[in-house]
Amino acid sequence: MIPGPIEFEPEVLHAMGRATSSHVAPDFIESFGTCIELMREVWRSPKGQPFIVAGTGTLAMDMAAANLIEKDDRVLVISTGYFGKRYKDIIDRYGAKTTILEANVGEVVDLDAIEIELKNNAYKALTLTHVDTSTGVRVDPEPIAKLAQKYNCLSILDGVCSVAGEEIKQDDWGIDVVLTGSQKAIGVPPGLALLVASEKAIQVWENRKTSVGSYYSDWNNWLPIIKAYEERRPSYFGTPPVNLIVALETSLKIIQKEGMETRVKRHRELARAFRAGLAALKFDFLPKSNEISANTLTAAYYPEGVDGSALLAKLSKDGIILAGGLLPELKTSYFRIGHMGSVSSNDLIAVLSSLERALIELGHPVKAGEGLQAFQHELLTKNLAIV
Ligand code: PMP
Repeated sequence: MIPGPIEFEPEVLHAMGRATSSHVAPDFIESFGTCIELMREVWRSPKGQPFIVAGTGTLAMDMAAANLIEKDDRVLVISTGYFGKRYKDIIDRYGAKTTILEANVGEVVDLDAIEIELKNNAYKALTLTHVDTSTGVRVDPEPIAKLAQKYNCLSILDGVCSVAGEEIKQDDWGIDVVLTGSQKAIGVPPGLALLVASEKAIQVWENRKTSVGSYYSDWNNWLPIIKAYEERRPSYFGTPPVNLIVALETSLKIIQKEGMETRVKRHRELARAFRAGLAALKFDFLPKSNEISANTLTAAYYPEGVDGSALLAKLSKDGIILAGGLLPELKTSYFRIGHMGSVSSNDLIAVLSSLERALIELGHPVKAGEGLQAFQHELLTKNLAIV
């Protein structure tokens, strides 16, 4: 139950285990082409240009920066935690003049503060983290993307902890890059960097003054390959991770079958019910309100007087693996639970019941069943309209 790698569907793992074919075998070309088409559906970006490359979410972040940012460009980084700061580090490597707007822990950056920055400086691009996995805070990308358009600035969304779990409408919202890694809500073992670039992003890249500083990330190397696979033609730049791509096709088809709207609703309802359960057990959350709480993970403080590592160790004995804190300044005072991808109410019931027992054993004053009752009530209220 960590926020990635998640639990994968058996069909996806089965696809991973198939005999590895040639990267130019007709059936593999078909799988790759299908992945490109299905990514556009999941990203809601019929006009976007997908890229599928061996690597991790960080490579997808790096690829967007390498191709779109040149020395001395101004870039605004909007940070809601650890991964916002990582984006600043990446962009600094390309010689940009970077400004970071950092939210307090558990909060989002004020829209007015973003607009003031954009108005006062000619930014080429801004970055934002949809869900910062270190805090569980979710940013609403739409108004920020609209502001970016108003000031002729590219918008780059780190969707590593949101794509295929949270609502994203890349084209409607006008976001220029939406990127992720495979191991989260997209539902494929770690190893794929996935990115969709808008037409405008491709134009900005085509009009660069200098060549791209990273050989592996350069879209000049990848775009002809991606286009060839989409047209079902063999091609080669770097050997694609054949098994991961076949697994991606399998997972994207599962996502397509569920439907993105239903999938987002499932994530939303389970997240709300889970937090109702945790609240009944007297947990406080890092995000300051429900409105900015992610549907893909929850970050909660350990209750006062409860030894965090003892709590996680007890859950681990029940086979439930949770993640500790990630923000250096608060690392030992909170923990994180992932609930994305194939997650079901049964998974969350298992977490809540194990947590209840562990808390009681550690002397925390809660009653067995309190968290579960709140969870059940919240789900029933939503599903049966019982008040
Ligand atoms: N951004 C966010 C929001 C993430 O959660 C992560 C991974 N936890 C990354 C970027 C980096 O992804 P990766 O570990 O796959 O490089």
